[in-house]
Amino acid sequence: MNNQGKKLFLASPRGFCSGVKKAIELAEETIEKNKIPIYIFNELVHNKNIVKNFENKGVIFVNKISDIPNNSIIIFSAHGVSKKIEKLAKEKQLKVVDATCPLVLNEHKKVVDLDKKGYTIIIIGNSQHPEIIGTLGQVKNEHFVISKKSDIEKLPKFKNKKIAFLMQTTLDIDEIQGLLKDLYLKFPHIEGDSDVCYATKNRQKAIAQLAKDSEVIFVVGSKNSSNSNKLRDRAENLGCPAFLIDNVDEITEDMFKKYSKIGITAGASAPEYIVQNVIKYFENFQYNL
Ligand code: SF4
Repeated sequence: MNNQGKKLFLASPRGFCSGVKKAIELAEETIEKNKIPIYIFNELVHNKNIVKNFENKGVIFVNKISDIPNNSIIIFSAHGVSKKIEKLAKEKQLKVVDATCPLVLNEHKKVVDLDKKGYTIIIIGNSQHPEIIGTLGQVKNEHFVISKKSDIEKLPKFKNKKIAFLMQTTLDIDEIQGLLKDLYLKFPHIEGDSDVCYATKNRQKAIAQLAKDSEVIFVVGSKNSSNSNKLRDRAENLGCPAFLIDNVDEITEDMFKKYSKIGITAGASAPEYIVQNVIKYFENFQYNL
């Protein structure tokens, strides 16, 4: 391989979405204006580096409200929280700073409205993800979480019931088409629309182009970041090997040495400075933009 043929390709858009930017800005403002300790419920956004930066500033991450002293300041993460968590925070007289993404809040409004109208709710997504826990935590009536075809087969018939579906905002836009087809087949009267957010969609479309240009793709993002995982999976489904990395030190030469065209993108919660570090790393091996 000659050095002239060694190319780097960058996806656009990539990295922070507006919801993540807003959550980080709110948390930073809160730290500036108040005394430590400040608590954040769950990871503010799913990125190890960002969590570490806030921990270095003295912020304490918790996943139980009972771990927070009364009257403290609590920041709710970008993924949102359930009604139960809001209630517990109120009982402890916590001062809440809500960094929930406005698009997730829209999802909450939608599900509350459907719930009041008596719909049985089916949510497509990962039952363990904080966004799904927060959204389902708004619902009083019967509800189900599905993530694969076999989950649909296990659902009851719901005869004469109104049913609606919602979905996690960070799903793969193509993968859900298959699930929706099966849902409509089983429940022709089911109601709902796609809830995949604009940031997820744009980044997924951009990686399709990147997979055409590149022989291998590096996705900057944490292992627990849903949208970053989907980007890696999508590249691989398009026939391009891909790696999900939190930091440049996770890259080894074996991952890229046989390729002359390397693509780089970043999930919606991954900071741009890491992308720039990855670019510099490859430039040291004579890959150029
Ligand atoms: S990925 Fe979408 S829903 Fe999640 S924080 Fe970003 S804009 Fe909001």
